Amino acid sequence: MASVLAFLTLGLVALGAQGARGRGPAPITIRAAHVFDGTGTLIENGVVEVTGTKITAVDKREGPVTYDLGDATLLPGMIDVHVHLNWYFSANGKYGGGGDTADYTTQAILDNARKTLMAGFTTVQSLGAASDKPLRDAIAAGVIVGPRLLTSISQIQAGTMTAEQLRDRVKQAKAQGADVIKFFASGSIRDGGKMNVTQQQVDAVCAEAKAQGLRSLVHAHDSASIIASVKAGCSQIEHGLFADDAAIKAMKDANVYFDPNIGLVLQNYLWNKDHYMGSGNFNDEGFASMEKALPNLPIIFKKALAAGLRMPMGTDAVAGAHGENAREIVARVQAGQTTRAALIGATSLAAESLGLGTTIGTLATGFEADIVAVPGDALTDISNVHHTKFVMKGGKVYKR
Ligand SMILES: [Zn+2]
Repeated sequence: MASVLAFLTLGLVALGAQGARGRGPAPITIRAAHVFDGTGTLIENGVVEVTGTKITAVDKREGPVTYDLGDATLLPGMIDVHVHLNWYFSANGKYGGGGDTADYTTQAILDNARKTLMAGFTTVQSLGAASDKPLRDAIAAGVIVGPRLLTSISQIQAGTMTAEQLRDRVKQAKAQGADVIKFFASGSIRDGGKMNVTQQQVDAVCAEAKAQGLRSLVHAHDSASIIASVKAGCSQIEHGLFADDAAIKAMKDANVYFDPNIGLVLQNYLWNKDHYMGSGNFNDEGFASMEKALPNLPIIFKKALAAGLRMPMGTDAVAGAHGENAREIVARVQAGQTTRAALIGATSLAAESLGLGTTIGTLATGFEADIVAVPGDALTDISNVHHTKFVMKGGKVYKR
């Protein structure tokens, strides 16, 4: 709270200084051949006008502009609803290599945040670690270059905890400043992904989250864990790699969000096998399970797409994957989603899933000026989203 107050005070001082000169901030205008608003509307040769931190117009005006981005596509700043900014490779190249100084760890995390923003992701949800909290607050205060950050601060593993203990655990996360609750209802893909909690445990976590005004995101691979989470009123299912038709129907009937992570996380573990091997369940068996799961990724996505599930875009980005987030959007299109729907999933729909649908994720008057540009026509060639060339967040240009 103190840092938020400090930030607000700085803002007032800045406005006061401008007021003393008798004018507000001058508008910035950005023109591009294609302007995709994040909800489905495409404007050819559009201009987005920004005043201060907000978008003040989206139109087709003539005349000079501040930034003419030529043949680019302007998009709302992209959003990734599932990352782990605290995952990095140690100085010895190993994940969890140990022996890193606190300074090394801090630098590695700052680098993850910077890479993510420069890739065009102006908001991410980290699920989550204690280091996210100072990072979130420092980014919000403008002292660190990174995306807007929402975080669960911790992750809840039920183990043998009682319903009452789990409710206390959720209250504790809320008291620590968590924006969202992250809960595990199944094992990892490397352990087979089977449900490893009771219905009572899921009920306790998701009901208490709701009582605390927080969304609840559940790591759930198999159908039993998905169906239990839906029954418990949880907000969003992560992964769902072994979801059967009944699990997909349960998600559809309850209209929960589903974030299947098909384009980056498993691939990244395999690309970086040498870095991960030897840490925890990153062993030969674990890698074999991940390799075996790869062909299932587009299949599960196609089924979810056919069922009409609401799928905000999340990657589960870990060490090695930060800044590669857009691969998930490309993978969705390769698995059969339209470019338009895939871009909506990474902008307005993702914002809606975060409870921020009226402030970010759309290029329209009154929204935060989070604006990125990718080369060419992204709606024709989605691979362009992987080459972000302009990044503005809150009206400030970070890359051009
Ligand atoms: Zn994760």
